Amino acid sequence: MLNYLFSKDKNSGRLMKILKRKNKIYNTERFGQPEIRVYHKKGYGKKSPRYLLKCGCCNEKLEIYYDKLGLEINGVNGSIEDWKEILLPLLHIEP
Ligand SMILES: [Zn+2]
Repeated sequence: MLNYLFSKDKNSGRLMKILKRKNKIYNTERFGQPEIRVYHKKGYGKKSPRYLLKCGCCNEKLEIYYDKLGLEINGVNGSIEDWKEILLPLLHIEP
């Protein structure tokens, strides 16, 4: 079951839906391959909130900082529109 927590972002004032997971290692129950482990940290001061995504099978990880203007994914900055052009087709969603 999907479990989201609502959090109001201090910088943007936006209400964000934060995905919560149990983050068991090598959990293939839902997707037939290890589920990505999802951690979230609130923003503070000038620091944006971020997701830390960890591979379901090892220690590889990915950081996504987000604010109203864009995303920084593993140090790569782009506007929301820029990321949409790149990521939506990969997720089988029409941009
Ligand atoms: Zn892995």
